Amino acid sequence: MVTVIEGAGTDDTRWRSWPTVGGWPALTVDPPGPPLVVAPHPDDEVLGVGGLLALLGDAEVVAVTDGEASHPGSTVHTQAELAALRREETAEALRRLGLGRTAVVHLGQPDGGIDEDALTAALTERLTPGRWCLATWRGDGHPDHESVGRAAAAACAATGARLLEYPIWTWHWAQPGDDRVPWDRARRLDLPSAARHAKEAAIQAFPSQIADLGPEPADAAILPPHVLARFRRPFEVVFA
Ligand SMILES: [Zn+2]
Repeated sequence: MVTVIEGAGTDDTRWRSWPTVGGWPALTVDPPGPPLVVAPHPDDEVLGVGGLLALLGDAEVVAVTDGEASHPGSTVHTQAELAALRREETAEALRRLGLGRTAVVHLGQPDGGIDEDALTAALTERLTPGRWCLATWRGDGHPDHESVGRAAAAACAATGARLLEYPIWTWHWAQPGDDRVPWDRARRLDLPSAARHAKEAAIQAFPSQIADLGPEPADAAILPPHVLARFRRPFEVVFA
């Protein structure tokens, strides 16, 4: 199900005041080793589970695309420049999460056109029984995010790895109590302040996304403050 992502989306104050959120079971953080984190675009891993990564201090990140299509029609950067910029931003963000030596595998798939079979094969190669695999949720509403979720689910089913799906755009198009979302699978991770601060610093490592590239509408920030508010919460949510 691909949901249209438009407008300002659901204000984070509405999520914060939804009482159900406080009742979700805590995520037990006991991975058998460094998790595999799958990011459709550079920054998804930080927005979705940056606090968890800061807490663990170790992970292997699969950057599926370089996010070169974030600003179609940009008057400032070519797609090749954006891809290079976003790779550098990812490296800096992971360093700020305390994951300086983290292996980042850049698959270089096209932004907006993920090859799900190739991705499933790449993930299957890296997963082992019980290993945590963090991927965007299959129902997240963005085609690339859903492709990544489906590929990760297939790779986990084939290997016996443990799939944990993180929502990103769901917080935009869904409403509290929305029956399109598997809230019964939600697990909540309350972030200690050090992990919160590391996550905020990592978010700031993506100027190409959080600030305007220039004055033209095609160069506007992809992640303005009202969107970032959803990822500045003192907790993170995954679907188990
Ligand atoms: Zn994304």
